This record gives sequence, structure tokens and C-alpha cells, in this order.
Amino acid sequence: MSITAGCDVGSLTAKAVIMEKGRILASAVIRSRARPEEASREVMDLALKEAALSINDLTGITRTGYGRGRMPFEGKEISEITCHGRGARWLLPSVKTLIDIGGQDCKAIKLKSDGSIDRFITNDKCASGTGRFLDVMAKVLGVPVEDLATCSERADHPVTFSSSCAVWAQADVIRLLNEGHGVDDIGAGINNAMAARVAVLLNSLGLDGDLCITGGVAKNLGVAKALETQLGCRVRKIRKADPQLAGAIGAALLAEENLK
Ligand code: ADP
Repeated sequence: MSITAGCDVGSLTAKAVIMEKGRILASAVIRSRARPEEASREVMDLALKEAALSINDLTGITRTGYGRGRMPFEGKEISEITCHGRGARWLLPSVKTLIDIGGQDCKAIKLKSDGSIDRFITNDKCASGTGRFLDVMAKVLGVPVEDLATCSERADHPVTFSSSCAVWAQADVIRLLNEGHGVDDIGAGINNAMAARVAVLLNSLGLDGDLCITGGVAKNLGVAKALETQLGCRVRKIRKADPQLAGAIGAALLAEENLK
């Protein structure tokens, strides 16, 4: 019996997935609180508990994410780009181009036909175009980040931001609220501004074949819709599992493939 785990510790969240024969047995997501050692142990314990297993039952573990070098258990380290690519291909077999939007960076990745990485580009220099941008903006707007997608659905006249800089855009939110713009119109404008940054990255990579979003921001359908409008193409919805787990899923699959 081969049961493997993938543990992905990112800048904001830690994710663990336990898989057997290409099927998810259990998973967990927690805030990582800038402590990869504790976050990785805690999230793995949660997933193992859900699967009613102990770490000794695992035949392989892959560690990924920025915290991959600081996990208190053995496991091969693989970059999150490789893991997201593998995970995205499992979540959506037709995917050719994906965009992973996490808390601190955004990566546009093109896959080869076997699911390995063809090429990628990253934005990790600036908060705009990352989950952090959405978190900060939602806070200033006074809505949970989980509700930003609803703003896009309800907005009649989405606002346009004069700057994509996260610092200036926060001031813009306050000004727009004072001018009497509705929360939904501002929330939709935030999603549109985020999509515009992501579109720049995708356009420089070159759009090719089926496109999907992975990472926590994939759950914000307002960003996906705005991206569709701005790029004039479809963003395929991931339904098989939580897209935030893509890196951990890929890691668990690669642990299984590594055994072979
Ligand atoms: P990382 O791997 O870098 O820690 P994640 O891939 O977990 O980051 O993504 C975190 C981001 O995902 C958050 O900044 C937030 O904007 C977004 N996010 C997480 N859950 C949701 C949700 N339910 N709805 C909308 N956005 C979400």
C-alpha cells in the first residue's frame, strides 16, 4: 500500500494532502503565521488525523513552498512551481497554462504535454497582483476577502483605480468611499485591478490552450471573471478539489511517482 503526503508551506497558509493511488484521503489548510516548522507539523497532524493515520504509515513525503527547507520531518524538497504544475494537471487534465496566485507572489506557468514545466514567469517584487493586495484592500473596504467575488457579481458601476500600487490603491479605496461609491463597485474594481496585473504576466508568458488559476486566489471568482473579460478567453473552473491545495496535491503525486 502506497500512501504519500504533500506539504506546502506558503507565505500565508500551510497545506497538507494525503493521497493513495491518485485519490485524496485527507487534507488540511491552516494559516502559517511565519513559522514553517510549527505550521508544517500542525497541518500534517490535522491531515493525518482526518485520514486516521500516523506519519509512519506514509511511504513518501514531498515538501514544497517557501517553508520547504524547515519542516521537521523527512521528505524530498521540490519547488512549488513543479508541484503546482503537477497538481493543476491532476485537477484539470486539459490545462496548458496556469496562474498560481498565492499570498505573496503570482506565477504564470506553461506546461508541457507530460505535465512538466515548459516555462514560467513570476511577480514577487510587488504586492499588487498577489493575494496580499486583495487582503489589504478588502480590509480597508471593510469586507471579508471571501466576499470580494460577491462584490463583482453585484456591482453596477465598478470603479477604476488610478494606480495599481497597493499603497496608493488603499488611499484610493478611502477616497472612493468618501465620494459615495458603493462597496460592491469598489470591491469589483479591486478584483479588476488584480486581474489587470495578472493579465500582464499572462500576456508576457503567452496564452496557450486551457487556462486555470491555482492558489488561494482561485477561490475569488471575481478575479477569474475579470481575467476572462480582459484577456477575452475562458478561465477553466477547478471542481475536483480545492484549488488552494494544488501545490500540496502535486507534491503528494510527485512523492508517489518518486517511489516508482
Ligand atoms: P500562500 O501559498 O502564498 O500562503 P495561498 O495560495 O494559500 O497563499 O493564497 C492565499 C490568498 O488566497 C489570500 O491572500 C487570499 O487573498 C486568498 N484566499 C484564500 N481563501 C480565499 C477565499 N475563500 N476566497 C477568496 N480568496 C481567498
